[in-house]
Amino acid sequence: MTETPTPSDAHEFGFSTEQVHAGYLGEGGYGARITPLYLSAGFIFDDFEHAKARFAGTDLGYVYSRINNPTNAAVEKVLADLEHGVGATLVGSGQAAATVSLLSVLKAGDHFLSAPSIYEGTRALFRGNFARFGIEVEFVENPNDPDDWHRRVRDNTRLFFGEAIPNPKNDLIDIEAIATAAHEHDVPFAIDSTVPTPYLLRPIDYGADIVFHSTSKFLAGHGNSIGGVVIDAGRFDWAAHPDKYPHLHQPIVEDDADGVTWIDKFGAKANFAFARAVVAGRFGTSLSPFNAFLVQQGVETLSLRLERHTRNALAIATWLEQQPEVASVDYPGLPSNPFHALAQKYYPRGAGSVFAFTLSGGEEAAKALYDAVEVFTRMTHIGDVRSLILHPPTTTHSKLSQAERDRAGIHPGLIRLSVGIEDVEDLLADLDRAFRVLRGETPPSLRGEGGDAELTPADGL
Ligand SMILES: *Cc1c(COP(=O)(O)O)cnc(C)c1O
Repeated sequence: MTETPTPSDAHEFGFSTEQVHAGYLGEGGYGARITPLYLSAGFIFDDFEHAKARFAGTDLGYVYSRINNPTNAAVEKVLADLEHGVGATLVGSGQAAATVSLLSVLKAGDHFLSAPSIYEGTRALFRGNFARFGIEVEFVENPNDPDDWHRRVRDNTRLFFGEAIPNPKNDLIDIEAIATAAHEHDVPFAIDSTVPTPYLLRPIDYGADIVFHSTSKFLAGHGNSIGGVVIDAGRFDWAAHPDKYPHLHQPIVEDDADGVTWIDKFGAKANFAFARAVVAGRFGTSLSPFNAFLVQQGVETLSLRLERHTRNALAIATWLEQQPEVASVDYPGLPSNPFHALAQKYYPRGAGSVFAFTLSGGEEAAKALYDAVEVFTRMTHIGDVRSLILHPPTTTHSKLSQAERDRAGIHPGLIRLSVGIEDVEDLLADLDRAFRVLRGETPPSLRGEGGDAELTPADGL
């Protein structure tokens, strides 16, 4: 008789192997190698008892695509595995992921702490929408000083939040220190890990309890769809805190006074189950299986793309630092950067590919450079295979006050790049040409005489 292998005997597969194999959940009997795209709103019940069992949860089959769908389930499985989580829920956008992650924990009357450098859409969600629900956010000033978190904790503080690689400034947070501080106050630490992706960082390994992503960025990777995902570490001890998280200690079936609670039924996965069924399921944040399929395709090449993205980003940041017009480059992969030590600790595979640099010539210089590029696309997005360029002070960060922008280091000459996977020589040639325009020169177009006109599709017809 052969012994059942124990987990320690099992071979540990690498990231690239997992990204292509971990999500396969079988298919409909045709031998398809990829989990197919199941565009079906509902799923057939064989008979009366079958329908009843699906609703009771004693049969875990599919019911309705707002709640679960086989295409989405395959993507949820691979993302949970890659993040070392116990479960994942796909949602309609990164904003929906932030909403579901935090509203599963917080209720009216609660207070939570956030690191100061976060996505502007998330900041607006916290300050505007959450405030209307009676949930109060407070921003710490120095996120890497645990005392700054400690001294702001109140009786009603229920969660700490931060963003792994904030952009445009790349002012990295010390994830382990913040998770430790949160746990000293018996509250979970939630993190937006969109920019690193699990290939560069697994926040759960450093103590994070809830991880979310905008899959619109590197995970889908090709700039084709909006989506989000929430992943639960399954480690926070919700059972120990009925005072702080009473909803998980209440019956799952609301009118059942002595019923089974979320903690009784799901244990450490109680928050995951509640977030999925009650928050995502009822607010109706579900991701279309079509978009889930696009995420599945993207995830299969995540490691390959991220290797190229980060290698290109380091080369470009190094080049930018040498240009006389550049006052500073916010890329922690550079040894000169104040966050370099944190980058070495958390991002040994590369410090991402979304960063800013500041031109000493201010907005006018930024405008000249921005309008001169030919390979970089002028667009507000990140994590695309294509390289993108943006002027945050007049776009993503234009709603902040001047004082807020100054405090965040978003100066008028700041430009953000999301470095793509093109040949780095071409990206450097594009920037070199744009810098020559900035210097008042008139270099020829990289596309030769006539520029873009040569690419007109009707040519020759
Ligand atoms: C884009 C982004 C979001 C929001 O995601 P959407 O898919 O656009 O809703 C949240 N956090 C970060 C870091 C992002 O880059």
